[in-house]
Amino acid sequence: MIQHAGRFAPSPTGPLHHGSLLAATASYLDARRQGLQWWVRIDDLDSPRVASGAEDSILRTLDAHGLHWDGPVQRQSLHIDRYEAALTELSRQKLLFYCSCSRQTLADAQVYPGTCRHRHRPVADTAIRVRVDEAPIRFHDLIHGDQSEILSRSCGDFVVRRRDGFIAYQLATAVDDGSDAITRVVRGGDLLDNTARQIYLMQHLGLQVPTYAHLPVLVDSHGRKLSKQTSAPALNDRNAAANLLAVFPFLGLNPPAGTREWSPGELLDWGAVEFDLARIPPGSATFRL
Ligand code: GLU
Repeated sequence: MIQHAGRFAPSPTGPLHHGSLLAATASYLDARRQGLQWWVRIDDLDSPRVASGAEDSILRTLDAHGLHWDGPVQRQSLHIDRYEAALTELSRQKLLFYCSCSRQTLADAQVYPGTCRHRHRPVADTAIRVRVDEAPIRFHDLIHGDQSEILSRSCGDFVVRRRDGFIAYQLATAVDDGSDAITRVVRGGDLLDNTARQIYLMQHLGLQVPTYAHLPVLVDSHGRKLSKQTSAPALNDRNAAANLLAVFPFLGLNPPAGTREWSPGELLDWGAVEFDLARIPPGSATFRL
């Protein structure tokens, strides 16, 4: 096992856009500053959403932008054994139950009402949920400061294996970050409210909890998060240096005159010296496309 790494974990649902470049660049620069390895993990468990060719295009784009990763590319689809082992361990702790509630039944519930908590035997076509409790989950986010969340009030018992059989994002992420000695998770701010659930799982699985930093969410002029759904354009690999320069200001990086002529590698070398998570403002930021 490689000790101490940062990571970028894209879902291969389409090509990277400026929002994903912000996350990739920030986690890369943070890892370089901290003297850590930087891993790329493809979050490809949700196979119906995997777009053909997306993984290749993501890796090509990272490479073109000088964002070179360490070691082999990781793939969640190759980690099913570790997720199953985690489920076995949570079950041994009597934390799991089978849930047959439909989306419609739960539509109005912000917090899972505990309807199926008594179901300890597998039934066909059910999700698996983990029980949560009243103990606050506390962590310090390097951009958003001290956080505290009581899961029984914010979300309630949550899904760790989906009804369709796929391992849920929370479990897969917690198990991978914890098992691969990922010590720094720098990612999009829209994932901040998933963090307490992931820490809860890591605590119960005896895994090391990373340090977290959640970046500003880039929104378009209508206030919508840049994403495939809002038609954020794919990055053009031929404009790699310009793309990096476009996201740098959102990372508190303001390159001096002259750097416009630099290569992506030169920009990242400069950024790795200057980068300071403490200079990144929390909240969302409008990105002019
Ligand atoms: N795969 C997730 C995404 O692309 C990110 C996972 C993470 O960074 O925790 O949104």
